[in-house]
Amino acid sequence: MDNHSIIEIANRVFLANYRPAPIVLESGKGCRVTDVEGRTYLDLCAGIAVVAVGHAHPVLVKAIAEQAGQLMHVSNLFYNRPAVQLAAELSERTAYDRFYFCNSGAEAVESLLKLARRYHFERGDTARTGLVSMQHSFHGRSMGALSLTGQSKYHEGMGPMVGGIEHVPFGDIDALRAVVGSQTAAVLLEPIQGEGGIVVGEPSYFAAVRALCDEAGALLMFDEVQTGIGRTGTFLAQEWSGVQPDACALAKGIGGGFPLGAIGVVETLVDALPPGTHATTYGGNPLACAAALAVLKVFDDEDLIEHVVRVGDYLGGRLAALADDDTVIHASAARGRGLLQGIVLAQDTDPASVLAAIRQRGVLLTLAGGNVLRFSPPLVVTQAELDEGLAVVKDVLSMERIQ
Ligand SMILES: *Cc1c(COP(=O)(O)O)cnc(C)c1O
Repeated sequence: MDNHSIIEIANRVFLANYRPAPIVLESGKGCRVTDVEGRTYLDLCAGIAVVAVGHAHPVLVKAIAEQAGQLMHVSNLFYNRPAVQLAAELSERTAYDRFYFCNSGAEAVESLLKLARRYHFERGDTARTGLVSMQHSFHGRSMGALSLTGQSKYHEGMGPMVGGIEHVPFGDIDALRAVVGSQTAAVLLEPIQGEGGIVVGEPSYFAAVRALCDEAGALLMFDEVQTGIGRTGTFLAQEWSGVQPDACALAKGIGGGFPLGAIGVVETLVDALPPGTHATTYGGNPLACAAALAVLKVFDDEDLIEHVVRVGDYLGGRLAALADDDTVIHASAARGRGLLQGIVLAQDTDPASVLAAIRQRGVLLTLAGGNVLRFSPPLVVTQAELDEGLAVVKDVLSMERIQ
């Protein structure tokens, strides 16, 4: 079957909540994916910053196949070795001591929300239920995560939102100071606003946020669903943020494409969710955890973090040059870190046609924040692959009329 006939069926059997590109992908290897008609694309979006070690990495494929043949699911009524090992490995690689596993980013954020409130409740501070997050943030689509998301377009028609949540401008410490107080359970932010348009936070701002939370007795939580697991050139973005949050949410890259979410917390929060207060049936299943362990093995085997720093610097330099180039009329600025970078499109440029034109030339990218062309390739991307993608992007962004 060709793309068209499969899409025709899809349009009869799917809900209409997505608007996918008109290609049906069937296989992948490294940074290449192939559709059902045999056309190959250079994948520089990695399924939205998920496919960390590339498509069909042999170490990941083998780990999943072996674990599937051994034990896939037991529930949290029992221990399983991969989950224990994964939590131990994550605690070695991060400044967090304790981990809880779930299945997606939204679920991880949802868990942070509940943990924040319950933490204070356990300490007898039952009035501390307020949460503060950032305007233009993105935290997921379940009701709690959606309520924390600071973009009204996602709230429309979905109300009422979860109560007790305020949104302030990202980077504005005075605005935050005005709302944080004795009722604040936690402040939640993304070190780099990903979906919001690759907006990078400043260490000086994070330091001020940390100090403010400490003064007020509120928890500081990072949503590292997009920035974590090597994406910005450190294992977690908090390493360059200069602060130690009390908890973080992880997902996207952690399973290398296999669904997995997690929260990490510092030791003082270990009892924030007593037995029975929070759970998920699938969370921490041996299959997902074996996948994540394989991803971490590839990080070590291939020195992936150092690689991300190297190719990330290269990509950043090339994008900055592109934004400065007068012949590239549709690019106005470049920003980001590591392998989470973006080009801000010029004011009258139509982002959807840019994306489609780049795709028609065989390169897959995504948009963020409406007008930012986002690069979030597999972390194993080579400089040659980036060059190939950048040549296409430059061509398209230089066209008088994009077609
Ligand atoms: C993608 C994302 C989420 C939501 O993750 P899902 O797995 O789609 O639920 C939450 N926070 C951030 C920062 C994200 O980028």
